[in-house]
Amino acid sequence: MNKPFDIGIDSLSSASETSTLTISPLPEPSQIPASDASPKSFYLETFGCQMNVHDSEKVSGVLLGRGYHAVKTPSEAGLVLYNTCSIRERAAQKVFARIGDWKTISNGKVIGVLGCLAQQEGEEIFERAPWVSLVCGSASYRRLPELIDQIESGNRRVMGLDLDTDETFETEITRRDNLFRAYITIIEGCDYSCAYCVVPHTRGPERSRPSDAVLAEARRLADAGYTEIQLLGQTVNSYRDPSPRGLDFVGLLRAVAEVKGIRRVRFTTSHPNDFHREIIDAIDETPALCDHIHLPVQSGSTPILRAMRRTYTRDEYLEKISWIRAGRRPYSITSDAIVGFPGETEKDFEDTLSLLDSAQFDAVFAFTYSPRPNTPAQHMPDAIPEEEKSRRLAVLLEHQRQIQAKRNEIFVGQSFELLVDGRRTKRDQWAGRTTCNRIVNFTTPREILLGEYVQARVTQAGPNSLVGEQVF
Ligand code: SF4
Repeated sequence: MNKPFDIGIDSLSSASETSTLTISPLPEPSQIPASDASPKSFYLETFGCQMNVHDSEKVSGVLLGRGYHAVKTPSEAGLVLYNTCSIRERAAQKVFARIGDWKTISNGKVIGVLGCLAQQEGEEIFERAPWVSLVCGSASYRRLPELIDQIESGNRRVMGLDLDTDETFETEITRRDNLFRAYITIIEGCDYSCAYCVVPHTRGPERSRPSDAVLAEARRLADAGYTEIQLLGQTVNSYRDPSPRGLDFVGLLRAVAEVKGIRRVRFTTSHPNDFHREIIDAIDETPALCDHIHLPVQSGSTPILRAMRRTYTRDEYLEKISWIRAGRRPYSITSDAIVGFPGETEKDFEDTLSLLDSAQFDAVFAFTYSPRPNTPAQHMPDAIPEEEKSRRLAVLLEHQRQIQAKRNEIFVGQSFELLVDGRRTKRDQWAGRTTCNRIVNFTTPREILLGEYVQARVTQAGPNSLVGEQVF
């Protein structure tokens, strides 16, 4: 492979004033007439997690390197791709609805399904939607150039569904869709087998990238003007450098933080089992490492954690939280939770609520359990009615909302350094993030701040964001 490089989105289209310049999902295909689009144009819509968002950046890079150009709507595209998520049933249904929209109007376009749903459903997608031409799972992206060759030679059913790979997805070009935060994948796949999770099936076994490749990418991003980097992996802290240098996760964190020009380094998602004190020591000692840990707990009940195959107990998880709270920085901690896992009793659910009280998270991403194909829990009796799962979810979210409202109140009057990454035009505010990843919407007499680091004082606090004013 030639020397890799990055293309910012502003080199492809005019920069938006918001920070999250995702590949625009706006128009529904059924609302737009099909047109004679150039076969070398592509539209890519992304569903799901940050790993998927970054995979899409790399897929776009592969296409750009082959002479394709990105367009903003599916009607303008010759190649329409969906990078999909199947982590929850609702996400999968949404993708099928999107594909279904093309049934009668694909009109010569090549429709492709990438990512987790592609890996999970495989050939079935061709059965359900014969107008789809490309199905490629996340573990097979390295084969994309070859698959695109086949499409260009007129093959109307092309499939990449390998899982037995020990390679990671390296690209010569990555199209960067976020102007302020650049993602670097350091590990792909997962060797855990959580009972509810499709990832080991859809993304394959764990593969770490050599540290040289990670550091070279970080240096390129710094040269391109990025100051904030987020290291990505399904179990990011399981990282083991496969090269002779042999860095562990902490060694890699410290090395990335030393790259000249990088002011903030984040990482997600950590598995509690591999979360060691050394990670907190490294952050305490290294200014560029951010004060934010995302540590999914999933349940506060040890029997449910065992049923979920999470490999830690409630007490072991809370011990790790106590290490973080004992650190020298004012860490924010966020988490994920699932309610209504098979067998979850009212007492188990109460244990989850009491864990929220003990951990004092700054945010929790919570969902109701839904059985997914190819997971160990798929055939567990799922006896909890949907209404009860929804009730538990509402109770949990309200409980957490109250915790966040109280925690955020203490920030009123304090000043924080923000990386400005958005504009709220209607409210005449700018938006920035603290090192803790808290959003502060603030006012300022200045006119252009995107991408700058500024100081802002918090004047009001809500459960999900803070309001403030710039201080000079
Ligand atoms: S650690 Fe568990 S939840 Fe996370 S990706 Fe692996 S199997 Fe899924």
